[in-house]
Amino acid sequence: MMLSIQNLSKTYSNGVIALDQIQLEIRSGMFGLLGPNGAGKSTLMRTLATLQTADGGSMNFNGIDIDKDPIKLRRTLGYLPQSFGVYPRESAENLLDYFALLKGITSRRQRKIKVSEVLHLTNLYEVRKNHVSSYSGGMRQRFGIAQLLLNDPQLIIVDEPTAGLDPAERKRFLSVLRGLGTENVVLFSTHLVEDVNELCTDMAIMNRGKILMKSTPAQAINDLVGKIWTRRIQANELHHYQAEYSYLSSSYNTDHSLNVRIFSANKPGPFFEIPDHLSLEDVYFNALRENVASHA
Ligand code: ADP
Repeated sequence: MMLSIQNLSKTYSNGVIALDQIQLEIRSGMFGLLGPNGAGKSTLMRTLATLQTADGGSMNFNGIDIDKDPIKLRRTLGYLPQSFGVYPRESAENLLDYFALLKGITSRRQRKIKVSEVLHLTNLYEVRKNHVSSYSGGMRQRFGIAQLLLNDPQLIIVDEPTAGLDPAERKRFLSVLRGLGTENVVLFSTHLVEDVNELCTDMAIMNRGKILMKSTPAQAINDLVGKIWTRRIQANELHHYQAEYSYLSSSYNTDHSLNVRIFSANKPGPFFEIPDHLSLEDVYFNALRENVASHA
């Protein structure tokens, strides 16, 4: 299974370049699209979900030309938008039954089986009689997953599903996604590095309409081995390190000193050390730093 995106571009009427010649090949598995707010993630996802059109480029999913045959794509698509809109005062079970009917499952018995299956998959079976309007943010997101699973999609697109969830809800949501398995292409966008860390087999980092890098979380970290340096400094020295070095990030120590992290192929100066371990956060900050530096 393969989603292939070639030279996809989109400039909004206000001049914002939201997609800048996007090039991506995505295979079966959990693919994390990581980027700050405004990077262009939603634009990319809405375009793939056939809700808006690009200015140029092409998208192909398993032989379906998405631009030319949006109806065919929709039959195999499951899409969870960033905000799902209004939540009706209707039970999850009844709503899912209704959505299943809209998706063409005409047999009442088949609908019952399918609805029960997706309620179990999303851990909502116990609360299936409750109104969706009474659900917490995390339950609503899981309900969103339940509805998109009704037509057994092969391409699943979820746009920033963990935004606004508390840590416990977020964990529960991620474990539901993890349970979906990886026979399908699952494209998942987030601005949280930890989401990608915990969930994704493959990843890309996006900013200002561009894909800055594509890798696996492990490989991306491995590529930085020996190139990240850390040093303890005083808080009032921070601006110096931000201005003079390829600065990535910093964290406070209990004595209010700071540990800065710097990118450098060689030891950048005295007192710098190789950190104990690297994380995906280093990868993320480094990709954004390179992107900003190239615009300076
Ligand atoms: P993300 O999902 O990564 O936060 P978006 O795709 O929502 O990014 O937005 C990318 C850029 O395009 C942002 O600068 C945003 O302000 C702009 N944008 C998004 N939608 C529209 C629109 N309908 N009209 C004009 N600009 C838009």
